[in-house]
Amino acid sequence: MGRVIDWSKLGGLVDGFVRLPGDPGFDAASRPFNRRFADVRPAAVLSVASAADVGKAIVWARENDVPVVARGGGHSYAGNSVNTGLVLDLRGLDEVRVDPASELVTVGGGTRMATLYAALEPYDLAFPAGNADDVAIGGLVLGGGVAAVSRSFGLTCDSLVETDVVLADGTTLTCDETHNADLFWACRGGGGGNFGVNTSFTFQARPVIASSTCLLLWRRADAPDVLAVMQEVMERAPDEFAARIGVSRAADEEAVVSVVGWHLGPAEELREMLRPALAAAEPFRADIEDRTYWEAKDYLHHNTAGGAFAVRTRSTPKALPDAGLTTALAAVDAWPGSSNPDGAGFALFTWGGAINRVPVAETAFPHRDVLFLLSMDTSWHTADGPDVARDNLAWLTDLHERMGEFASDAAYVNFTDPDLPDWRAAYHGPNYARLAEVKRRYDPDRVFRFPQAI
Ligand SMILES: Cc1cc2nc3c(=O)[nH]c(=O)nc-3n(C[C@H](O)[C@H](O)[C@H](O)COP(=O)(O)OP(=O)(O)OC[C@H]3O[C@@H](n4cnc5c(N)ncnc54)[C@H](O)[C@@H]3O)c2cc1C
Repeated sequence: MGRVIDWSKLGGLVDGFVRLPGDPGFDAASRPFNRRFADVRPAAVLSVASAADVGKAIVWARENDVPVVARGGGHSYAGNSVNTGLVLDLRGLDEVRVDPASELVTVGGGTRMATLYAALEPYDLAFPAGNADDVAIGGLVLGGGVAAVSRSFGLTCDSLVETDVVLADGTTLTCDETHNADLFWACRGGGGGNFGVNTSFTFQARPVIASSTCLLLWRRADAPDVLAVMQEVMERAPDEFAARIGVSRAADEEAVVSVVGWHLGPAEELREMLRPALAAAEPFRADIEDRTYWEAKDYLHHNTAGGAFAVRTRSTPKALPDAGLTTALAAVDAWPGSSNPDGAGFALFTWGGAINRVPVAETAFPHRDVLFLLSMDTSWHTADGPDVARDNLAWLTDLHERMGEFASDAAYVNFTDPDLPDWRAAYHGPNYARLAEVKRRYDPDRVFRFPQAI
């Protein structure tokens, strides 16, 4: 930052721990999950011990002209939870309180998924949450939050009933449907990091449901038939069943078609629903199993090799036409390659159901008419060098542009793409103007800012 800052002053104000580059734990508390942003390093990170620490740190940062940003799980695709000033590491705010009578669950603002699920399981209560252990609740719910059970249970933000927000002036507001309702509205899908730092969230949970899962894999040659039929299957599917229909490949390997699904019902029903896809072409792997809710959650756990990656999304209220599938498949065949085993590809996430039964203006999350979120992704390692990164990003831009003929520009703010043109309309749709009003009201000096901030 080019200035000498006395970080010990901050350390003296708070109960948490201030770490500087080189201190043990500094990297774990500040490093972006997406290694594409590995070079961005803060001057200091405060691992907060309490909600009060957050307010004190924000005030101190403003007085000392230090940019400040909140970090939950650090999983922002765009590296939005790291800056060159002060990072507030919220992982210490991870208390989860479950009230079995009301089925209300209060979650600390930095709670990660592994901690959340472990606290919910003994009660057999759940609300829609993420599928990776270290994704945290703040980024997830503030951007909407989509789970495989969202077609039945809605988005993570649809289950939110109250949240505490530390504002830019260091004061805390409790927000719900009737108190600070405009800020509450914005916290339901308007995107993390925009309005303040949320130190706690209360969700309405519900009893879990016995489930089943599927993992089906086909060869590249079967892709056109399987993708067309699987889209039809999902167009007809009840809300209880959601799937991720994907095509992906790593360097020097043939692409694989995958269907990973979660059904809130027995495997027998799931197998029946999948029959047309199984008949379209014989999969080389077909696992369809009864599971408890908790086993299904584990089965759908997101495994990744990490490294650097980029994702861009589009949406469609109906199946992609054959020409759209052909275009996307041709792009995967032409992927320039990298050393990252996660490779590249595209996936159709089935949305709809309960997600679409909420009016567009009721929460900040605007995409209430989507059947498939089309997610296009690529990955590399920083050691691959700048040319590989550039070629991969150009490939993604090209694929995104080509798919504009078949799917809308509506994009998911939590699959954040720092290079997305027209991001205001794409992420926030008709809700952008109201989000901008809320921003002016609660953060008039734009203390909380990043390239795609409201
Ligand atoms: C492996 C992986 C799996 C994923 N799975 C899912 C999934 O199943 N469903 C889904 O919808 N998305 C999923 N995502 C996307 C995920 O929702 C977003 O990346 C989300 O923003 C991550 O939240 P985080 O707190 O971990 O990230 P961070 O990078 O810490 O935060 C993201 C943004 O939110 C802000 N923020 C974080 N916490 C707070 C807070 N308490 N108050 C105010 N602002 C805050 C940060 O400043 C930043 O701008 C996944 C991402 C990854 C990398």
